[in-house]
Amino acid sequence: MTTNISTITIRLPDDSTRELPSGSTGFDLAMSIGKRLGQAAVATVVNGIETDLGVSLVDGAKVSIITADSDAGRHVLRHSTAHVLAQAVVQLFVGAKFSIGPAIEDGFYYDFELPNSKTFSDDDLAKIQQRMQEIVKADQPFVRSEMSARDALKLFSDQPYKCEIIERVTQGDADSSDAGEAGSADAVSVYRNTDDFVDLCRGPHVPSTSRLGHFALMKVAGAYWRGNEKGPMLQRIYGTAWESKAALAEHLHRLEEAEKRDHRRLAVEMDLLSFPQELGGGLAVWHPKGGIVRKLMEDYSRERHQNGGYKFVFTPHLANAHLFETSGHLQFYKDGMYPPMEMDNGTYYPKPMNCPMHCLIYRDRQRSYRELPLRLFELGTVYRYERAGTLHGLLRIRGFTQDDSHIFCTEEQMADEIASLLDFVLSVLRRFGFNDFDFKLSTRNLEKSVGSDEIWGKATEALTEALNRHGLKYTVSPGDAAFYGPKIDIDVRDAIGRKWQLSTIQCDFNLPERFGLEYIATDNARKRPIMLHRALFGSIERFFGVLLEHYGGAFPTWLAPIQVRVLAVASAHEQYALEVTETLSKLGYRVDQLVADEQLGKRIRASKLERIPYVLVVGDDDIAGATVGVNPRGGDVIRGVSLNDFIQQLAADVGQENNLQKHV
Ligand SMILES: [Zn+2]
Ligand SMILES: [Zn+2]
Repeated sequence: MTTNISTITIRLPDDSTRELPSGSTGFDLAMSIGKRLGQAAVATVVNGIETDLGVSLVDGAKVSIITADSDAGRHVLRHSTAHVLAQAVVQLFVGAKFSIGPAIEDGFYYDFELPNSKTFSDDDLAKIQQRMQEIVKADQPFVRSEMSARDALKLFSDQPYKCEIIERVTQGDADSSDAGEAGSADAVSVYRNTDDFVDLCRGPHVPSTSRLGHFALMKVAGAYWRGNEKGPMLQRIYGTAWESKAALAEHLHRLEEAEKRDHRRLAVEMDLLSFPQELGGGLAVWHPKGGIVRKLMEDYSRERHQNGGYKFVFTPHLANAHLFETSGHLQFYKDGMYPPMEMDNGTYYPKPMNCPMHCLIYRDRQRSYRELPLRLFELGTVYRYERAGTLHGLLRIRGFTQDDSHIFCTEEQMADEIASLLDFVLSVLRRFGFNDFDFKLSTRNLEKSVGSDEIWGKATEALTEALNRHGLKYTVSPGDAAFYGPKIDIDVRDAIGRKWQLSTIQCDFNLPERFGLEYIATDNARKRPIMLHRALFGSIERFFGVLLEHYGGAFPTWLAPIQVRVLAVASAHEQYALEVTETLSKLGYRVDQLVADEQLGKRIRASKLERIPYVLVVGDDDIAGATVGVNPRGGDVIRGVSLNDFIQQLAADVGQENNLQKHV
């Protein structure tokens, strides 16, 4: 192969190479691979750096193409759409100041300040959106240039927030959001769309605004500049943007679905639990119907742990500050803890985690290798301080109960323990109807970690091997582990495709050290055990909230607070309805009866709102024939079913689930 100076060689992600005329851009490369790739391309990664599609490639560069339908591609689309939003706002609102406009999950936002403290109305949003569409149609290019800080300050002289960012970046005290806006200290980069609109930005961007268009503005909210409550209050416009009309429509549909499934709303409709104001923010009380589901979850958890060789322990809600000094929580986790209580010449804290107390149980006496692995289990209630603004029903709450375990084991036992933990987690999650998982392995941050290279290597290998042994696909987050050990996070996808982080399996080389935990090994030497932290549900509250949204309140029959409701057509049938109710109740089903003081249709509707799996209606014919009319949730009414047949159907429905339960 001869190298011609008029061609360049580009290395692709699969390590194949491709020759292109010199001066070729990322776009040319994508087109040379395929027209469809060219049309889908929004940016490139050149030698590890995200770059605009229109930049000329240099000989020998390693290049991959970012397409619009990838996470990175959507990020580019969203951030580019944020620029278009800013342009529309400064055109429509004379004197508007704009500050930052990053891409976020599923969308983007931009913060503005309007003259005379004016705020955006809903009508304004519609107007802005229309102007944005005009900008898209105008096919404006995103043209990058770099300049000195001095020139940039001049260019943005009427934009005080931009000037502040430029100054912070060039003085070297930029935070991550500044860097995203302005590039590096050496040169400030800007993107120009028209003679009138230029924005400070690191990029990359789509080549031109015509690549955008599938977006919607969602809402306006107040936001402090740089999150500082003493600083100016800006107006934040949120939007969402996608690679296609269909993807946008799907997202908007998902939002609608999510709204319908909001667990806070379902909890009220179904009388499951509440957050009384008198109780204080982020704290819930469970009503009887929510309590039934919770008890079933806890019973299931206890049974599984009992079968899994766990030992049940109980620990108090408070501890002396000394404990959290020993554990390091006061050093590293104080912001997440409730404030202290002073009493009896001591300082006490509500516990944010159960681990320190489990370490005390371990340390209470000398341990032998024969006792390991020692698996301690507790449904432990913890209290964590969350800022009021971040509280969200059961999903972000200040007091909650973890299905918490700490496993103390030898180095040799670690791999098997982790592998069986992974089985355990998956079977529990599947039992509750989750079948779509994402696994993330977080590995060591060399600058911030305790423990030897050897032990980190072994633990990371054990986690990796467990994932591989199960044939699970996972992503690695290099350097993302806590300082005390690597971990696996398990996300589930719910019925409408949302991702929830629920379970973790975490290795810990730190707490055994801090608490001086030891065991006597086979050779009589004293050794340090390894500690594994592990929660399956995570928190019962959060898991319940996710479950409620996953099922949209329609719990499977084995979990439903009320499995069967019996309705008499009229008062004359009440006695028979009662007999049916009692028969089912004696068989152990959760069944109730709504007295016929309202029209049947109304009672059926009320029962549907409670998402009861079976509503039985009984009238004259049923009394005569010992039958019931079966109204299954989401199905059609079947009249004249013999009570015995219905009982068999119910047993099969609940029993199927029970068989699953036995599949350990
Ligand atoms: Zn930008
Ligand atoms: Zn723990």
